[in-house]
Amino acid sequence: ERLFEAAGRIFRRRSPLPGRLWGEAMRITRESHVYSLGVSEPVATVTAPCSLTVETCDCFNGQVTEDGQPKARLNFSHVNPATGPIVVEGAEPGDVLRVHIRAIRPEKTGALMTAPGAGALPDRVKGDTRICPIADGHFTFMGVELPLNPMIGVIGVAPAGESVPCGTPGDHGGNMDTIGIREGAILRLPVFVKGAYLGLGDLHAAMGDGEVSVTGLEVFGEVDLDLSLEKGASLPCPLLHDGDEVSFLASAETVDGAIHASTGYMHDFLLAKTSLNADEALMLMSLCGHARISQIVDPLKTARFAMPVSVLAKFGVVVE
Ligand code: CA
Ligand code: ZN
Repeated sequence: ERLFEAAGRIFRRRSPLPGRLWGEAMRITRESHVYSLGVSEPVATVTAPCSLTVETCDCFNGQVTEDGQPKARLNFSHVNPATGPIVVEGAEPGDVLRVHIRAIRPEKTGALMTAPGAGALPDRVKGDTRICPIADGHFTFMGVELPLNPMIGVIGVAPAGESVPCGTPGDHGGNMDTIGIREGAILRLPVFVKGAYLGLGDLHAAMGDGEVSVTGLEVFGEVDLDLSLEKGASLPCPLLHDGDEVSFLASAETVDGAIHASTGYMHDFLLAKTSLNADEALMLMSLCGHARISQIVDPLKTARFAMPVSVLAKFGVVVE
């Protein structure tokens, strides 16, 4: 308990909305997980608004257990498990599932890796693993204590068509590996199929923008969530409010493509929500907004265009 209090003191941002517990939180255990997001046998059916505690496996499903572990010992058909799917009663295509992340509790050990052919510098590494102990608001790497930044790597719903492997991000969410998906944040996911079919996993105790080695500090853990439905709210891709910024999370074959998409979605949003014209909206984005990279190492790359909450408020736009 002390660990998470310590982590909270350092990292808890202002929560966009005060956490509200909708009755007793239902616990969903990590044994019930899938390797792709889509329509499959649900582990639970819930009625929103509701509160859940979801246990998650790490992205290796526990396969990395020691420093210097050979990659050959990893079974890559068992990576990126997402706990779920959770059916949300009443969710229909065109609705939005609002996920308020009230708490993220990583366990006391994290694992990370490099792999030749993967990551941002695929030809510079031989491939290695490290185990990092986590305690009192920090983790230890190479004998140095560094700050935690707990976040959710994989969170999404069933896409419109075929199931998508949990390692791949998209408009349905999935492996977005975005540091703003953290405690206190509100993530809105577009609903593509009746029931939504939410799944999540791949917690990181720490990660930077890009996730350049190919992993964050991968941990088992659990997440407290509040779910609610916004009927007919309709979104083109996940929309994140992390307490400081509002951003559209877009994924594409290239970083350029992902930035282009997320920038376009923010522009559409400003045109819809303010009286700015197309030129003015892009000027405001250029002056105050940020094209940020989420990750550059997954099968599709993820970027976000972020506007400060304070700037949006000055133009009459409030996202709660
Ligand atoms: Ca990930
Ligand atoms: Zn991960």
